[in-house]
Amino acid sequence: MNNYKNTSLWFNTMDQEPTVRNPLTSDIDADVAIIGAGYTGLWTAYYLKSLKPELNIVILEADIAGYGASGRNGGWVAGFITGLDKYVAPMPMDARRECCRVLFDNVDEIGARLQEESINADFNKGGVLYAAARYPEQERLQRKLLKQLYETGHTEEDCYWLDAQQLEDKVRLRNGLGAIFKPHCATVNPARMVRGLADAVEAMGVKIYEKTRVSAVKPRKVTTASGTVSATTVVPALEGYSSTVSGFGRYVIPVQSLIIATEPLSDSLWDEIGLNNREAFCDGSRMVSYGQKSADGRMIFGARGGYVYGGKPRSDFSLKDEDFRIREELMFDLFPMLKDVNITHGWGGSLGMPRNFAPHAIYDAESGIATAGGYGGQGVAPSHLFGRTLADLILNRDTVYTQMPWAFNHAPHKRVLRRWEPEPFRWITSKTIVKAFTWEENLYQDKPGPSLGKSVANKVSDTLSLLMR
Ligand SMILES: Cc1cc2nc3c(=O)[nH]c(=O)nc-3n(C[C@H](O)[C@H](O)[C@H](O)COP(=O)(O)OP(=O)(O)OC[C@H]3O[C@@H](n4cnc5c(N)ncnc54)[C@H](O)[C@@H]3O)c2cc1C
Repeated sequence: MNNYKNTSLWFNTMDQEPTVRNPLTSDIDADVAIIGAGYTGLWTAYYLKSLKPELNIVILEADIAGYGASGRNGGWVAGFITGLDKYVAPMPMDARRECCRVLFDNVDEIGARLQEESINADFNKGGVLYAAARYPEQERLQRKLLKQLYETGHTEEDCYWLDAQQLEDKVRLRNGLGAIFKPHCATVNPARMVRGLADAVEAMGVKIYEKTRVSAVKPRKVTTASGTVSATTVVPALEGYSSTVSGFGRYVIPVQSLIIATEPLSDSLWDEIGLNNREAFCDGSRMVSYGQKSADGRMIFGARGGYVYGGKPRSDFSLKDEDFRIREELMFDLFPMLKDVNITHGWGGSLGMPRNFAPHAIYDAESGIATAGGYGGQGVAPSHLFGRTLADLILNRDTVYTQMPWAFNHAPHKRVLRRWEPEPFRWITSKTIVKAFTWEENLYQDKPGPSLGKSVANKVSDTLSLLMR
């Protein structure tokens, strides 16, 4: 029997162990069959049912709602998506601003929905201290990033530079030289959000089958070991688990992300650290360390990703795993005042990485297949927007969401999604990128000031970063 307390801090600190819903036990018909009860699947169901209550919608979930990345993440609800610059590149500035506005408003929309549905997920909009630079080379990179954000349609109110003193007023991290502040970001308790959303969707009349693993998806037909679902529309919402269903794994592959959490910290320790508004934060490293102050006063700290040969999702983690030691070192390096606190939780999960490093919402009316995902490490807020967009696409509604450049109507997957290269290329490339980024960072830390090694490492890392765009 599965012990969900080990899934993440968020599951571990829930008032009670989740009740498992019944599995599918026979062949059934539905209007819409959604595969995966994470945020994407659940928000899609939520908006479809809100817009057309008579729809017969079922959700098929291999484990329990929120067992995937949605119940395990770092809880940033961010008003941006990866790959935004690519999507808006061909657009005039006013259209770029409109795309940004939709992404920013999305954060408040989530807060509003949680309130309407009485889901207590500790939603707190404190903004984010983004890409904090700790070395001159990082400051150069992050100031360049700020310029790019303005080019993608952000205004000076949507993001601005904090110098070293302004950063220190908000958070005392070691060697902080400056950061970008973005007000359009909140934090949540992810598991409470996904479990509450599942309950809300169920109360609206959507049937959720848990412990029901889908083995095959065909137009209008979904197969599981215990029954098939014949449905007009089929919505795979599998993200980091796309490879578990044939035909999807070559487009979005799983990348593992790991997080640690401390015990609840004393007020005096939080006075030393800062984050008075419970701002989210991340550093300016290319491999990104990030976190939040949880509602119960813990430091939540995530860092770096990992890729398993063959693109297999991973769900089981233990704080004893060696993988967590590097996260501890990174956290102590950023916040030396945490050196003596207890680290009580360590967990991880699989996020979904698309080959073009930008997320998508696609509906192909001919096959009746709709899908959204490819969020990388930034899917908590976008999955709400993309689920809502899928609902509009499926119901043939022309809305501001279906006009966004990441929404694709009647497009076969292949024209929108790029295929990942076969192994061993993916594995070798991922290892090379991590090695180069680590090399660059070690040079920054050990030898302040310009050096030949640094500029070579910087060039190599810049080139590899370009590959990921
Ligand atoms: C450790 C970690 C930290 C993260 N931190 C952040 C963050 O701070 N902010 C942010 O914006 N994003 C973050 N992300 C990413 C974010 O969590 C995801 O983008 C988001 O949760 C994706 O939701 P989803 O519903 O698309 O996928 P998931 O939540 O992964 O849902 C997929 C569901 O499908 C189910 N499933 C799998 N296989 C099958 C099958 N064969 N049949 C039926 N069901 C199946 C799974 O059990 C799962 O419940 C993080 C991710 C991880 C792993």
